[in-house]
Amino acid sequence: MADTAPMAAPSAPRISFVSLGCPKALVDSERIVTRLRAEGYELTKTHAGADLVIVNTCGFLDSAKAESLAAIGDALAENGKVVVTGCMGAEPEQITAAHPGVLAVTGPQQYESVLAAVHEAVPPRHDPFLDLVPEHGVKLTPRHYAYLKISEGCNNRCTFCIIPKLRGDLVSRPLGEVMREAERLVKAGVKELLVISQDTSAYGVDLKYAPSLWRDQERATRFFDLAEALGELGAWVRLHYVYPYPHVDRVMDLMSAGKVLPYLDIPFQHSNPDVLRRMKRPASQEKTLARVQAWRAAVPDLTLRSTFIVGFPGESEGEFQDLLGFLEEAELDRVGCFKFEPVAGAPANDIAAAVPDEVKAERYDRFMRAQQAISARRLKKKVGTRQQVIIDAVTPQGAVGRTKGDAPEIDGRVHVASRRPLRVGEIASVKIEAADAYDLRGTAVGF
Ligand code: SF4
Repeated sequence: MADTAPMAAPSAPRISFVSLGCPKALVDSERIVTRLRAEGYELTKTHAGADLVIVNTCGFLDSAKAESLAAIGDALAENGKVVVTGCMGAEPEQITAAHPGVLAVTGPQQYESVLAAVHEAVPPRHDPFLDLVPEHGVKLTPRHYAYLKISEGCNNRCTFCIIPKLRGDLVSRPLGEVMREAERLVKAGVKELLVISQDTSAYGVDLKYAPSLWRDQERATRFFDLAEALGELGAWVRLHYVYPYPHVDRVMDLMSAGKVLPYLDIPFQHSNPDVLRRMKRPASQEKTLARVQAWRAAVPDLTLRSTFIVGFPGESEGEFQDLLGFLEEAELDRVGCFKFEPVAGAPANDIAAAVPDEVKAERYDRFMRAQQAISARRLKKKVGTRQQVIIDAVTPQGAVGRTKGDAPEIDGRVHVASRRPLRVGEIASVKIEAADAYDLRGTAVGF
């Protein structure tokens, strides 16, 4: 019998992945990465030495496009084999004009096309037994929280936005499908589910709220029913991109009952009715301030986060002052602000005269100063209270986490001192001792 050396397993092809853009794009990246890992590809953190680079681009603002083009340029320079996907891929000529050397350009959610391009350039190693993917997929977020994408696209036509053009009309995932994914995530150790979509309150409209089976029960594919079902999983459930429609009032009961976090992320964008009309915002006719006050009365510890645009075409000083007045009255906890940027192809660019850049900058500063004082005031009220804090990181200087009122990446943090070492993903009871405009400090008093 001839001697035979044990057969060396072929080395796995290595992919370097760049994920740009919003949490929705991050979810797309996770899906692509999950599929790649299931097929035996390995991920690497550097372009050099990888067999291929995938760049998931963002095309929301011109500044995001520039960042995406720069990332593609870096990948080409450092590696040479580059596949581009994501929002900017909806207009491939912008990419190929700047970077003719890319191997393929695919649009948002075109997972199959991305994989086909990867297979062509770097065929997969066939070894299904060595490359089993965990049941919950591969996540790019830390293990203890996960984004849950409940729909794609959007039925609204906000005049400053080209997302419906890029991603199409609303397509909701049936409730049962979303719940099965959520359940798998929680079983895999996820403690916090971040519900995302372009318009979360519109969930299910396209399916006419069709019933969907979950845990042997038919449930409507509808915003409230989904929030209620998610609340049964025992994880923190955080709702993003909700519009102030009357039917949102019902989730206050779920918040009071501790089923859903007392937190709403509502992109108001403006308060003045004329500006909102020019923006064609959903729910612009609703009595927003009265609704905010009623929610706060029902759920006193409710945290409200929002984003606004200043310098929208035609915005007058009076309309801007209306916005400042709204900020004072609504007392939102967390606020992001953008200076209007004319995104190519957005109808808003031609709606009215552009606001000069220096006026935009000046309004932005006034807005941020006003909101900083409000945020600081709201945070100060937490000093002396006990808060549940989920730990995101442990450093030699101590642990850093978030209260129920803070979403990862976009809101504030809590710096936690503790007698015993805390673990990432643990939820501790923390006595809050100090606050500044954004962050809190405290000591763990219960585990
Ligand atoms: S709600 Fe408006 S801003 Fe948001 S994705 Fe839809 S069209 Fe764009």
